[in-house]
Amino acid sequence: ASLYKIDKWGAPYFSVNSSGNISVRPHGPATLAHQEIDLMKIVRKVSDPKSTGGLGLQLPLIVRLPDVLKNRLESLQAAFDFAVQSQGYEAHYQGVYPVKCNQDRFVVEDIVRFGTPFRFGLEAGSKPELLLAMSCLCKGNPDALLICNGFKDSEYISLALFARKLALNTVIVLEQEEELDLVIDLSKRLSVRPVIGVRAKLRTKHSGHFGSTSGEKGKFGLTTTQILRVVRKLQQVDMLDCLQLLHFHIGSQIPSTALLADGVGEAAQIYCELVRLGAHMQVIDIGGGLGIDYDGSKSSESELSVGYSLEEYASAVVQAVRLVCDRRSIKHPVICSESGRAIVSHHSVLIFEAVSASAHESPSMPSLGWPYIVEGLPDDARADYRNLYAAAIKGEYESCLLYADQLKQRCIDQFKEGSLGMEQLAAVDGLCDFLSKAIGAADPARTYHVNLSVFTSVPDFWGIDQLFPIVPIHRLDQRPSAKGILSDLTCDSDGKIDKFIGGESSLPLHELEGGGRYYLGMFLGGAYEEALGGVHNLFGGPSVVRVSQSDGPHSFAVTRAVPGPSCGDVLRVMQHEPELMFETLKHRAEECEDGNSMAATAALASSLARSFHNMPYLVCIPNCACLLAE
Ligand code: PLP
Repeated sequence: ASLYKIDKWGAPYFSVNSSGNISVRPHGPATLAHQEIDLMKIVRKVSDPKSTGGLGLQLPLIVRLPDVLKNRLESLQAAFDFAVQSQGYEAHYQGVYPVKCNQDRFVVEDIVRFGTPFRFGLEAGSKPELLLAMSCLCKGNPDALLICNGFKDSEYISLALFARKLALNTVIVLEQEEELDLVIDLSKRLSVRPVIGVRAKLRTKHSGHFGSTSGEKGKFGLTTTQILRVVRKLQQVDMLDCLQLLHFHIGSQIPSTALLADGVGEAAQIYCELVRLGAHMQVIDIGGGLGIDYDGSKSSESELSVGYSLEEYASAVVQAVRLVCDRRSIKHPVICSESGRAIVSHHSVLIFEAVSASAHESPSMPSLGWPYIVEGLPDDARADYRNLYAAAIKGEYESCLLYADQLKQRCIDQFKEGSLGMEQLAAVDGLCDFLSKAIGAADPARTYHVNLSVFTSVPDFWGIDQLFPIVPIHRLDQRPSAKGILSDLTCDSDGKIDKFIGGESSLPLHELEGGGRYYLGMFLGGAYEEALGGVHNLFGGPSVVRVSQSDGPHSFAVTRAVPGPSCGDVLRVMQHEPELMFETLKHRAEECEDGNSMAATAALASSLARSFHNMPYLVCIPNCACLLAE
């Protein structure tokens, strides 16, 4: 377990149990021993149709853990409540969840439900997100904020005004100056008094990858001049009282409390200026950016980590706002944050299988056999072989590799000219491989083929090189004897994971055992990955189960199980019509019936129907081969 640093990035939710499997501690530090959930038990229950109550779901699988979600939400609220109380802050914290991080219906509904006692709201950044936020908040606390961010047209703004008519605590945050005219005009036409916010473009800049949209030249928000023009225009139309919220977003994964305090302090000054200019300011919305510790280093130097705890984050925010407001004798505002990553990352685990691994190649065993190599060499290469051998014996490894490379290139040229046969080329390849392995120049990492699409399930690895902890979820009581990279099912060379937490270029992995399965988990991927994933090669999303801690006979209950999209479903996404496609193919089978019996044609048709109905992923036979669905 220490090999994978599970105690570093996984605490307090993930640990290794006495069976060598990963256990979930659903209530974080408050979890009792009997409440721990063994991930392997979940996999067995949901994937094996023969186990009691087994669901026969196909992998890959996302396991959602609502208890973890609840714990994250409560921990965030508790951290701010503590900071507010201990610093004598005279207003409260009231967060919102930015639905873009994971728009899954049950994730959003859980957050609204768990957050109701403390007025937790939602943030939307587009019209469909606003529609979903409106309908979810109807069931929540009426004071919960509904923050409308993102670029807006008149339809978006009308929808937000309509939400106010439904008594939802909606704030239209101006992302561009031009939105103001629409808000003024539409609110008059619809007879709704809007609550308006402005998004400020701060000078404070977060220089890491996740902060590329921050700073003076950032993509979003209003400059100081634009904010002043907004104030003036609202004053002219007698609507300055509608301006009540100041929003900013420094960037995701804010590395340190120093940068955070700098940004929040700058924003608090703007807030105080808006009060001075006559706006009826109530809320400072500090955006997202509360980071999480993907690599377990707890360091602000690593892009995959942050140098603070939840408590330190909350304390830095409250202190920065308080200091500025006290200095300017301004009433403390309600503090809102739009933390996404920090709320949803931990609650979901992606589980997938390694289905085969490239053979372990030992230098003493060339794959084609030693005699074959020596006999197969072209005549003019035999002299090279003797020189190479002599150099290797003398330990002149660098020259040896150089000669080998030259020999190989010469033989490739001869093959292209047609003067060398395939057997001879293979013999030269074999010789060069053998030499580089014998000398230790070759990378010993093996390739583990995984039943997964990186493009669908880990898009940020492909897109922005983001790393996530990936760990076998069982056999952690056995020392892994191999090192591997993970290669996915797509026919795309980018469809592989070859960088791992800690800067490693391979992952310690176990040998695949005959008759056994090998399950890996990707952790901390609950934010962004599902929403960003595409359908490259028409691999759709994984199956999803929702698993709650239960005090019944098992420590858990599967409260929802949804198979991943079928081949038919993903074809439909690209405008194909699976029903028509099936009919066309069935018709063709009937036309080709010829020598086949009617029964054979019917069997073919039902097999085709199953192919449309099954998921695009491989149906795996334990560690030997992957076969298509029967
Ligand atoms: N709010 C805004 C405006 C954002 O752009 C983002 C993410 O980019 C967030 C909130 C969520 O940020 P995070 O997931 O870092 O908390």
